[in-house]
Amino acid sequence: MIATPLQIDTSVSEPLNVLDLTPDDALLVLAEFMAGAGEARYRAAQVFARLWERPVHSFDDMTELPKGLRAQLADRFTMPRLALQERQRSSDGTEKFLFRLHDGQSIETVAIPEGNRLTLCISSQAGCALQCAFCATGAMGFQRNLTPSEIAGQVRELRLLDPPLLATNIVFMGMGEPLMNWKAVDPVLTLLNDPRALGIGARHITVSTVGVLPGIEALAARKEQFRLAISIHAPSDALRRSLMPVNVKYPLADVMQAAAAFDRRVTFEYVMLDGVNDQPEHAAMLSTLARECRAFVNLIPLHPGGSLGFTPTPGPKIAAFARAMRARGVEVAVRKSRGLDIAAACGQLRTERLGRRLPVVTEQHDDVHVP
Ligand code: SAH
Repeated sequence: MIATPLQIDTSVSEPLNVLDLTPDDALLVLAEFMAGAGEARYRAAQVFARLWERPVHSFDDMTELPKGLRAQLADRFTMPRLALQERQRSSDGTEKFLFRLHDGQSIETVAIPEGNRLTLCISSQAGCALQCAFCATGAMGFQRNLTPSEIAGQVRELRLLDPPLLATNIVFMGMGEPLMNWKAVDPVLTLLNDPRALGIGARHITVSTVGVLPGIEALAARKEQFRLAISIHAPSDALRRSLMPVNVKYPLADVMQAAAAFDRRVTFEYVMLDGVNDQPEHAAMLSTLARECRAFVNLIPLHPGGSLGFTPTPGPKIAAFARAMRARGVEVAVRKSRGLDIAAACGQLRTERLGRRLPVVTEQHDDVHVP
């Protein structure tokens, strides 16, 4: 999918999706094209700046270029859009976007404002194969991997809005398992981070995974300081297997080893399920694991919509769980639930559109605040 310059056969007539390429590859291909068209070399960088940094809707909107050149570019290249199907705004300012892809698949992106930050929660797959018991995306099954332009395109589309939404932080916590689509996520990380493209600092980009070991190794091998979050959700193999079938393939001990070997600080995600994984012994066991890897722990209140058969742990009980972990020397934060009235958790909006759940009424669920 990502062609290196040598593999790009410029003699083929099929238009090339220039949004699927890393900055280096795109600039090379564009430079080659400009040379062929008898244009100055600087035109390549001029076009590239209009893909991600200051994006435009189409080649024809690159009005700094001669009209003839714009037409030639549109013959040779594509820069496909994601069709915005729906936009919902929560009473807390969180916004949720449903995009329709060329083959009819839909994916979700969530924009979460907090102070002067804007965090985008992006999807890496349509559906998901992992079937975590409490997750709405898991319930819909796996449809397909997203391409680089479909993943980074979510960030680009929000930049194209009027007024634009400019992300300061990215989390791969939308639909799908990013480390089961490394082939696309790898170049997307470059597009997100490269100052010539989206220019978001590596420390502001978090890849969240259930613990796909080869993917964690691949992420660790990148020289940039991308962050890693691991969905733990249970401190023992028996309980974790019952919530996350992937634990059979990647058991806790192996995930812990990979987390400890990661050369940057790792975050553990732990969704609080009432009466399931929120007992004092779970806090003790989770503390041991977190200390082994020097991990930071995020306790996540369960987003109730779409999470079949589970109820959220009440706020005071989450706070007590956090205190028990702190007493054991672990750094813990309780994440705020956002966008409860717009079904903002993983896969919930798409599920809602397919008619399988009712929206949650905001007033029923208080936010849990960080102590
Ligand atoms: N597949 C990756 C990333 C996508 S999910 C992963 O599992 O880490 C991002 C996070 O949202 C995961 O921690 C996931 O377990 C959590 N999540 C899924 N459904 C949720 C729900 N209903 N409420 C709260 N968190 C949920």
